Amino acid sequence: MTQLELRELADGVWAWLQPGGETGVANAGVIADDDGLTLVDTLMVRSQWEPFAAAVEALDRTVKRVVLTHAHVDHVGGTGKFRNAAVYASAITSNLLDQPMPLDAYKAFMPAFADEFDDLAELGTRPVSHLVEGAANLTPRVEVLPAAGHTPGDVMVLVADADVLFAGDLCFFGVTPLAFQGDPQQWATMLDAIVELADTIVPGHGPVGGEREVRELQSYLRHCVAGEIPSGPWDGWLDRAERDPINIERAALLRDERDEIPPSMLKAIGLP
Ligand SMILES: [Zn+2]
Repeated sequence: MTQLELRELADGVWAWLQPGGETGVANAGVIADDDGLTLVDTLMVRSQWEPFAAAVEALDRTVKRVVLTHAHVDHVGGTGKFRNAAVYASAITSNLLDQPMPLDAYKAFMPAFADEFDDLAELGTRPVSHLVEGAANLTPRVEVLPAAGHTPGDVMVLVADADVLFAGDLCFFGVTPLAFQGDPQQWATMLDAIVELADTIVPGHGPVGGEREVRELQSYLRHCVAGEIPSGPWDGWLDRAERDPINIERAALLRDERDEIPPSMLKAIGLP
């Protein structure tokens, strides 16, 4: 595996970008303030969060806060490593993290990491210690912003002085988004606000981007709502075959006011 490193996007603002960005392979972020560091998400399994934690340790600053953008396991698995940090997330994320992990579903959905999930289950993750109930400045640099669209409990992290937004899974660049718990229509609308927030956007999955990538994602989501995806810039995205049906089915269910997991997602996690 290639050696990853923290990529400094601006003074005291770093992204940890896992190449590929497919299922289970997410990004994280680090922001420095005078009192210490704020992390954005903690990746999933030990082979991912250990090198990230080592790079954070090499900055030689206290980790004061962890912001979890949502409860999906590829963003929260390493939280236990940062034992002394305050953990910020939405109430919905907090509730989900208090539930037992659906290990069999994880193993079925992310077979590449099946061997590592028992370790994750043993370690557990950390509960949320601080609820994000509205837009709030956690530090002079770090602002948390409630969002919605990918899951009902999304939050994002804005570093306005550096013009950088950590969008969590509101943004997937070069990778097909996954809306099995989301609302493609609401998500597409949310992206109008996101392009106004910052020029540099760190997605939950894939490389750093900006307005062009956000608009491509928006257009893809609108096609999912319409029920048909024509040829476009998404032709080369990862995981199209698996995720197109999930996203289209989810949009159709919501149109019928059925807030349900799409059948193709149930199949992907090994349920009939
Ligand atoms: Zn997610």
